[in-house]
Amino acid sequence: MSKHVLIVGGGIIGLSVAYYCARKGHRVTVVERGAAERDGCSFANAGMIVPSHFIPLASPGVVPLALRWMWNPESPFRVQPRFSAELLDWGWKLYRAATTARVASAATVLRDLHLASRACFEEWAALWGNEFELVERGLLMLCNTDHGLDEETRTAEYAQRLGIPAEVLSPAAAAELEPGIRMAIAGAVYFRLDCHLTPARLMAVLRRELRSAGVQIVSDTEVRGWRASKVRVDAVETRAGRLEADEFVLCAGIWSKELVRDLGLVLPMQAGKGYSLTLETPPIRPGICAILSEARVAMTPMGGSLRFGGTMELTGIDETINPIRIRGIVKSVARYYPDVSPAHFEQASIRSGLRPCSPDGLPYIGRFDRYANLSTASGHAMMGVSLAPITGKLMAELLSDEAPAYSIAALRPDRYM
Ligand SMILES: Cc1cc2nc3c(=O)[nH]c(=O)nc-3n(C[C@H](O)[C@H](O)[C@H](O)COP(=O)(O)OP(=O)(O)OC[C@H]3O[C@@H](n4cnc5c(N)ncnc54)[C@H](O)[C@@H]3O)c2cc1C
Repeated sequence: MSKHVLIVGGGIIGLSVAYYCARKGHRVTVVERGAAERDGCSFANAGMIVPSHFIPLASPGVVPLALRWMWNPESPFRVQPRFSAELLDWGWKLYRAATTARVASAATVLRDLHLASRACFEEWAALWGNEFELVERGLLMLCNTDHGLDEETRTAEYAQRLGIPAEVLSPAAAAELEPGIRMAIAGAVYFRLDCHLTPARLMAVLRRELRSAGVQIVSDTEVRGWRASKVRVDAVETRAGRLEADEFVLCAGIWSKELVRDLGLVLPMQAGKGYSLTLETPPIRPGICAILSEARVAMTPMGGSLRFGGTMELTGIDETINPIRIRGIVKSVARYYPDVSPAHFEQASIRSGLRPCSPDGLPYIGRFDRYANLSTASGHAMMGVSLAPITGKLMAELLSDEAPAYSIAALRPDRYM
């Protein structure tokens, strides 16, 4: 049965949900607070599709590492010192989720979702003449210390046990994959199923395809509240008036947690601010995306340009750019690529984005128990692009009253209620 589905938020997740709902024959409206080409996570990201990222943010090593990094202002991780009961609660939930057993069960879920999403990206690339520049050449996890390489080797062994191809490479073997690029490394791990794309192009293509499929995209319109009974949502309130629908899907990234509050629901998330720096005329032109492992910096070739992305700053909902964090990224790049110096970043375009981070590192995908016609797809943290198409597909199946292709029990949005 065809329904009218209203999606709050036109980031990569909202657009992907819209796409698959329209394909199922539903009438779809996307309500987006910003203009078409805005900054934010879905534009500022590193564009990586990452089956290699099967370990969730909440993992046993993360708490001691975060505590160590916190005191260095240029490190990859920072918590802005402040008293916030919400932040403490989130940290406590993360700590509780960071067990070997929880990681093991999350890893199979993430593996399946990333691989399914990757297949969707291949389909999209074929459908739309690869306008968003999908490159299926893998990802290099570059390590410049023996300790870092040991850690990544253990992750590679775990990946292999899960059936994800991962190869430990000597510096010479890594250089063969990137001829002409000087890399100062102790070794690397090569994840050949990972890929990369150009995020702004993906967003533009999706918006165009949605419009031609009859999806209504209402930009510059903020959802300010809900009209709801005890068990159903009837409409959302906007400056332009009340918008009614049969189904409501909340895809507002980090802002989803604020929007559900009025409905008496809880969606624990912290904004993990990250930055990307894009060089339009880069001094090196690698062909494969990479993560500079110890520095936690991502590097992605995007057409002729090169983007570096990194840092995870828990500063609340605040998109301002912190020059100390930018300096941390810039300094770390030269440690891996000696031909890239801080001077090359003087003309970089810098963007920030707030990753919507759930405490257990798994997204929220599904219906809320309390309201029969309200669901969410949010909390994708550092994997929102990679998981976007499969998220859209699963949500479209749910809203069409079909059994989802993958079990989403672990992703229930009510899991902290
Ligand atoms: C530096 C960096 C690098 C990254 N690299 C990668 C990567 O390589 N691969 C990967 O998979 N992920 C990556 N990510 C993460 C990824 O970008 C996010 O997970 C993803 O963009 C989240 O998408 P979203 O649609 O949930 O949220 P958002 O992109 O934040 O979109 C939410 C939308 O909702 C709108 N909205 C909010 N409130 C309202 C309201 N009240 N009414 C109407 N609209 C509203 C917002 O304007 C926004 O457009 C990276 C992130 C950063 C910051």
